[in-house]
Amino acid sequence: VPEPKVILSCEDITVEFDGFKAVQRMSLKLQQGELRFLIGPNGAGKTTMLDVICGKTRPASGRVLFQGDIEITRKKEHQIAELGIGRKFQAPSVFAGLSVAENLELAMKQNRSVWATMRAAMTGEDQERIDRQLDRIGLRAKTAWRAGSLSHGEKQWLEIGMMLLQEPSVLLLDEPVAGMTDKETDLTGELLRDIANEHTVVVVEHDMEFVRNFASKVTVMHEGQLLKEGTMEEVQQDDRVAEVYLGK
Ligand code: ADP
Repeated sequence: VPEPKVILSCEDITVEFDGFKAVQRMSLKLQQGELRFLIGPNGAGKTTMLDVICGKTRPASGRVLFQGDIEITRKKEHQIAELGIGRKFQAPSVFAGLSVAENLELAMKQNRSVWATMRAAMTGEDQERIDRQLDRIGLRAKTAWRAGSLSHGEKQWLEIGMMLLQEPSVLLLDEPVAGMTDKETDLTGELLRDIANEHTVVVVEHDMEFVRNFASKVTVMHEGQLLKEGTMEEVQQDDRVAEVYLGK
């Protein structure tokens, strides 16, 4: 069996804010096509790790390697995005006044601007790509709806669809199911599993029931450091993880 390919590797990352170490010597390796959950108590450094990967925060030391040998540690946010690492923040950010279809078209044109040689008009192939994402995010019947009139969960899915049209190899998601109904949460878990067949997905998550239902591999952070990594079963059986979550 060939070794799965490592797509992203954070090595020995330390982040300091005014001398306070928000992340300390943290390493994280992601295999291509995996769905990884990053969990841990508030303040553990999870969001800061995503910020480091997408170039929003510079680590004091350590490095981030993309696709084996592309060092992205000191690249700018837009360069990292163009390389194919997409970040989604907790609150949905869609254009409320535009339709679902227009939001998706806009996201696709944004992608195209990277490839300056391509035409600005939508081709049949473009439409097919949009339709594919509409089916995937379950919004085909609401193509003409104003994005502002969608439910909170639907807005999150639309934004995920917009990200996917930019064809990232890695998606970084910050608490995607926060504020969702139980049904929306389950649909989101299925959506993320589906996406992870083609892309690599990292999810920072507080909703432990969601993690239990959908995580195969979990990374637990505590006080800026790696506490435990493994399958959900391995993580749940770890005494130190229980201590951190339940108190001593
Ligand atoms: P998590 O996402 O696990 O809840 P964060 O990565 O948001 O944790 O934060 C880790 C620690 O770093 C926290 O103690 C937080 O207060 C601190 N922190 C995060 N961002 C900043 C910042 N910009 N300036 C100062 N401290 C920060």
